[in-house]
Amino acid sequence: MSEDSEEEDYSDRSISDDDELDEDSFMKFVSDDIHPCTLLAADSVGDPFFPRTTQILLEYQLGRWVPRLRGPRDLYGVSSSGPLSPTRWPYHCEVIDEKVQHIEWTPFVPEPVYVPTGMEIEPVYPNSKEETVVYLAEDAYKEPCFVYSRVGGNRTSLKQPVDNCDNTLVFEARFESGNLQKVVKVADHEYELTVRPDLFTNKHTQWYYFQVTNTQAEIVYRFTIVNFTKPASLYNRGMKPLFYSEKEAKTHNIGWQRIGDQIKYYKNNLGQDGRHFFSLTWTFQFPHSQDTCYFAHCYPYTYSNLQEYLSGINSDPVRSKFCKIRVLCHTLARNMVYVLTITTPLKTSDSKRKAVILTARVHPGETNSSWIMKGFLDYILGDSSDARLLRDTFIFKVVPMLNPDGVIVGNYRCSLAGRDLNRNYTSLLKESFPSVWYTRNMINRLMEKREVILYCDLHGHSRKQNIFMYGCDGSSRSKTKGLYLQQRIFPLMLSKNCPNIFSFSACKFNVQKSKEGTGRVVMWKMGIRNSFTLEATFCGSTLGNKRGTHFGTKDLESMGYHFCDSLLDYCDPDRSKYYQCLKELEEMEKHMSSERVSDNTDASLVEISLDVESSSRGSDSSESNDTQTYLLKVTSQARNKKKYLKTKRERNAILANCQNNTQEVYGKEHLLQRHEESNSDGNDPRIDAPDVYVAHCFRRPLPSQGVVYSDLIRVHRKSAL
Ligand SMILES: [Zn+2]
Repeated sequence: MSEDSEEEDYSDRSISDDDELDEDSFMKFVSDDIHPCTLLAADSVGDPFFPRTTQILLEYQLGRWVPRLRGPRDLYGVSSSGPLSPTRWPYHCEVIDEKVQHIEWTPFVPEPVYVPTGMEIEPVYPNSKEETVVYLAEDAYKEPCFVYSRVGGNRTSLKQPVDNCDNTLVFEARFESGNLQKVVKVADHEYELTVRPDLFTNKHTQWYYFQVTNTQAEIVYRFTIVNFTKPASLYNRGMKPLFYSEKEAKTHNIGWQRIGDQIKYYKNNLGQDGRHFFSLTWTFQFPHSQDTCYFAHCYPYTYSNLQEYLSGINSDPVRSKFCKIRVLCHTLARNMVYVLTITTPLKTSDSKRKAVILTARVHPGETNSSWIMKGFLDYILGDSSDARLLRDTFIFKVVPMLNPDGVIVGNYRCSLAGRDLNRNYTSLLKESFPSVWYTRNMINRLMEKREVILYCDLHGHSRKQNIFMYGCDGSSRSKTKGLYLQQRIFPLMLSKNCPNIFSFSACKFNVQKSKEGTGRVVMWKMGIRNSFTLEATFCGSTLGNKRGTHFGTKDLESMGYHFCDSLLDYCDPDRSKYYQCLKELEEMEKHMSSERVSDNTDASLVEISLDVESSSRGSDSSESNDTQTYLLKVTSQARNKKKYLKTKRERNAILANCQNNTQEVYGKEHLLQRHEESNSDGNDPRIDAPDVYVAHCFRRPLPSQGVVYSDLIRVHRKSAL
């Protein structure tokens, strides 16, 4: 069977033919093929045999017009040669022409969380309406619901930002993912800010992202956002706002950084009708005068960022071979929801290849999930032996951005239906919730053909620290099936592979009534045993040597890498790690059962008592499957003798041996050399990784049992000197 015929495509094929803007883009894509005067669309010559069709082209050959079918479209708007598909906005949204872009940067040292001094004040501005309004976006309630969309939003001339010709700051947020509703100047250097609720709702004020210009250095400014609605916030647990300076980026190559003094999150008494509002206040001195700066709740990752990333994959002759990008569906605003199929091109004998599903950004304000997704894609599309093995072993179906409309307009949680898509996976309303409907449909059809071994939806969490997971299994039904502890194994492996950022004790495995419409619960009920929501804090870690610091984008990206690493552990034909984790879980549960303490040492295991007999062993045979047979085959080729828990190391060691034509065991110098070589590759996602991340990368090609993790960190640090 050919590769193409094996390729599964669940995309919405009814789309885009009637979209004149797609057509414009398409004509640019194919313009190279069109020779003036020799090639015309059939309808343009009034041929009676081809009335009004744009799909047939007429080519002038040997004195006559010859019809031929138009070639297939180049990747539905993620073209390798043409422009990106333009973003579409609700028609009334004002959008500035300027394209906002930021550089990527990793701080030299992890950025510490804010430690309150106890002297923070709680400004309240009850009379601010009488003060000077210096920024006012268009009325968020202009329409009660979504009507229609346009490229670039509102076509009437934009309101200009208020220019007071003095030192007043100038605010702007009418760009992709921007969110700021109103700014009132309440004192010389003090501003009261209001963020915009999700469009067509009056809720979900959490995400902010705006530009500030006309700055003055060495002045202490105070900013206070006054209309948050959540009583608890990570801003009360040390989280600092993010700041970006274009001058810092240009002159020092510094990107987003955590800033602020006198940070406080508090109830502000501005609510009416029984509603309560909460304020976030901080003070700050800009590093430069006349700078263009930004503040944000989390590292922005826009729909355009995703399109550029996908375009890069598509134009890469290597990655595009095993990563196919298609349009899953169109959103309400007719933006594209992409689905990626990542696997080594299939052969007939691989028809039992299992599937892994990853989705992200159903909640648009949870941008940290996009950075984890980027880390995952960077790794899985890379050229490491483990990435190749994963692609050989699995079919990955990835929906990197489930809610592009929400991302574009700067929503925090909802789509343009004004609803939380992650409560509507059970909905039959395809037109109202297309991305989750088509995702569920895609997974349903996928499961008819092959087993889905894992589903994971990536999120951000606004109240808890660290990264953790929600699973589904907490019922007696699963206990009788002996699956109770097994579903905790993958999260436990994650916590072992990245103990400084992932907390197993924060994981929970139950299904609340209110969560029944979530992707995690729906996929679990459809039969996917490992069905998870991965939650990444907006703040940072309380674990290990990361304790007390914020997560940067590289930390989040490293989570994507550890996800792949843990997947290999989970499917390792050497079942030692699997059973070691199972044993630990049994011990934990025994401990919890006997103590029945409520000290929160492990909330994940508190709720349910253990049935050890039914826990796991019985499923051993079900784990001995094609995937593992394949892995076993690969690893057996790469080693002479099976050893305890060394499968990946051995595989890498053999690879290293082959590359160097020698049987010697490598020392640290060699590792260092390998690292330097890898750093010389501009595409290596690990270049700017923090030490811990690099140490993990080091760990992988390590054949020597004598070198431990801390040694590797020292090697790396030495190399940096
Ligand atoms: Zn979420």
